[in-house]
Amino acid sequence: MSKKIPQTMGQQFGRRSWAEPWKIKMVEPIRMISAEARAEAAAEAGYNTFLLKSEDVYIDLLTDSGTSAMSDRQWAGLMLGDEAYAGSRNFYHLEHAIQTHYGYKYIVPTHQGRGAEHLISQAVIKKGDFIPGNMYFTTTRLHQELAGGTFVDVIIDEAHDPANRHPFKGNVDLDKLQNLIDKVGAEKIPYVSLAGTVNMAGGQPVSMANVKALRQLCDKYGIKIYLDATRMAENVFFIQEREDGYADKPIAEILFEFCSYTDGAWMSAKKDHLVNIGGWLAVNDHDVFDAARNMVVVYEGLHTYGGMSGRDMEALAIGIEESLQDDHIRARVGQVRYLGDLLTDWGIPIVQPVGGHAIFLNAKEIYDHLPQDKFPAQTLAAELYLDSGIRAMERGVVSAGRDPETGDHRYPKLELVRLTIPRRVYTQAHMDVTAEAVKAVYDNRHNARGLKMVYEPKYLRFFQARFEKL
Ligand SMILES: *Cc1c(COP(=O)(O)O)cnc(C)c1O
Repeated sequence: MSKKIPQTMGQQFGRRSWAEPWKIKMVEPIRMISAEARAEAAAEAGYNTFLLKSEDVYIDLLTDSGTSAMSDRQWAGLMLGDEAYAGSRNFYHLEHAIQTHYGYKYIVPTHQGRGAEHLISQAVIKKGDFIPGNMYFTTTRLHQELAGGTFVDVIIDEAHDPANRHPFKGNVDLDKLQNLIDKVGAEKIPYVSLAGTVNMAGGQPVSMANVKALRQLCDKYGIKIYLDATRMAENVFFIQEREDGYADKPIAEILFEFCSYTDGAWMSAKKDHLVNIGGWLAVNDHDVFDAARNMVVVYEGLHTYGGMSGRDMEALAIGIEESLQDDHIRARVGQVRYLGDLLTDWGIPIVQPVGGHAIFLNAKEIYDHLPQDKFPAQTLAAELYLDSGIRAMERGVVSAGRDPETGDHRYPKLELVRLTIPRRVYTQAHMDVTAEAVKAVYDNRHNARGLKMVYEPKYLRFFQARFEKL
């Protein structure tokens, strides 16, 4: 049985409130440009927040990727960079940190998460294979497709319903997986692509019970489980909060147990690990390691740096330790939940329950007068920038791309705008200002007219597509 989700972090921890376990030592000035300048900047960017200049942005909630503030210890670590081409001491520090906390045997460093996704996809997917996963992620699925695989969504139905308050909306539906095995045969399924938390579902966690049951089913058929560990520290926080038997266990210990049910992982270190660039692949199978370590020298760099400098690897090794401290992760998720609670109190439709890294506005419901081919979420992100200089991102029909078979838009059930909170960067006052801006756009919702796509790139179109106002 799962416990009830607490309404506030204070309730959970039996005290009045939480606060960040750090104080600010250095600041970076930000400013809001005028409404006219914002209108000009938005039009110039084709109403795509990815194409805005950062200087024109006030509060930047585009992504939590590579946008974290490093600690004084991480900055000190940069000075210890060993920039030898081969065998840098920082690589061994990094390797040790991953082996200690994630428990995998073999490590291949990469420049960021998608570098690792490329390696694992090419190493284990054959043309005609099927890759079941708990909801797609943009770069993950693309690399699986480029390797000749077909992604199949096997997440529980609750994940596709933004209002459903299931405590583990990231769980795999084992019946859906069993059906796929029965239909295509286990030999066509090299692995299950398991993400914790599930970014596209709203930062929703997978339970320990679910990964254990998944392990049992996969063992029956000889199917591997590879973990997208990008936000596993946050995932583990929710296990500690919601799953029986974990309330008194430290985050690091729960993480280690979770990973023990999987065969390997890839990581975008730009998220949980509190660095601006970096990633890795880790596996237990020596043959897979051998293939990936050979390929990394073609695409990323030698297998003891994989696209990172020595100092980057040092900051990352230290970031891994910091990311798994209980007070850090509590404040991290607490800040996200604070913003979510404000919006919920004002009746603004967001994905519930609030996940680990972001608030997802339900654009489909907010703009219920706009059909999905007028890009409601893209429109909402543009309107938020126009109102307040706050930058968010679309997670809807633009991100979902086109079906490779039919060439039609894929129409996902979720049409969302993501307000992503960088780690250790903004204060509670920034969250208040953000909530007020969202409210202003929400109150003005009936005036939104939608957008028309006027430029569409072939791959990952959400990054570079351009729009015009209707
Ligand atoms: C960001 C992300 C990736 C890709 O990582 P990059 O470092 O951006 O290349 C993969 N999976 C998930 C869940 C992510 O959020």
